[in-house]
Amino acid sequence: MAKQRIFSGTQPSGRLHIGNYVGAIRNWVGLEDDYDCVWGIVDYHAISVAYDPHEMPKRILECAINYLACGLDPNKAIIMLQSLVPEHVELGWILDSVTPVSWLLRVPSFKEKRLQNPKNVNMAMLSYPVLMASDILIYKADAVPVGEDQLPHLELTREIARRFNGIYGDVFPEPKEILGPVPEILGLDGTRKMSKSLDNCVYLDDEPGVIEKKLSTATTDTNRKRRTDPGNPDVCNIFTMHKAFSKKEELERINKECRTAEIGCLDCKAIVAKNLIEALKPIREKQRELWGNTEKVKKVLLLGSDRARVIVRQTLAEVHKKMGLDSLR
Ligand code: SF4
Repeated sequence: MAKQRIFSGTQPSGRLHIGNYVGAIRNWVGLEDDYDCVWGIVDYHAISVAYDPHEMPKRILECAINYLACGLDPNKAIIMLQSLVPEHVELGWILDSVTPVSWLLRVPSFKEKRLQNPKNVNMAMLSYPVLMASDILIYKADAVPVGEDQLPHLELTREIARRFNGIYGDVFPEPKEILGPVPEILGLDGTRKMSKSLDNCVYLDDEPGVIEKKLSTATTDTNRKRRTDPGNPDVCNIFTMHKAFSKKEELERINKECRTAEIGCLDCKAIVAKNLIEALKPIREKQRELWGNTEKVKKVLLLGSDRARVIVRQTLAEVHKKMGLDSLR
């Protein structure tokens, strides 16, 4: 039986942080044996906000290096660059034509971006979720690995697929979500998303000393004022990090000792810092190796994008036929 297909991607927006790693890429690695996977670097998404064109090539390369260093395997999955497969944008335009503006105005990320970039509220920012739907639907993906925060986008993708299929006839499956095993790791402030723009990240390439320093000042359970107060791991972002990087026995011990005030937050943070540093060590080493061989990395993207184009052209041919746009093709 043919494997189900999945698509996911990230923007080349600079260094990856542990939230990206645990919430996305680490889970993707585990899916490569069971699914037919397409991993995208979605650079067209990154242009909806102001950016430096001179920096973009480095950002793309950095993203590809991170993918490979984290263990994504180009022999098992397609690793592609969106701008090398412009059919994503063609389908995006087609899907724009079946997507009511009212659906896009209610998307939370549009509201956020609008506030963050008041002088550049552009069309790409508004129709970003349609391009995202195109990225998924153009591969006829059966499922998408997502974090909880991306569920509204995936629901919108399903609505768009349903709407297209309803108007022109069935082409697109409605993709299901694959949720990761660990809840979202928040920023070091413990309340907001981990985000470069909020300066609250632990990056995959942070040196061990930097990781220790960042974690030592990270917010924990804010109700735990003194060392002798019992804490609540359920509301502590450091405990979420333990869930991602510590062994089961250690996790159970901390869960118990936190609630009885047997362990202090500084000791607890030192343990997670040690585990995190250990987990990131092979990634940092691989990153260094790949920065020394960027031609190999570029080749992965070129070959992956060639393979992606074969799939997306088949989907677009079907779409053109359904829409009566195939008469002269
Ligand atoms: Fe969080 Fe650990 Fe402190 Fe408990 S002991 S509140 S889990 S940092």
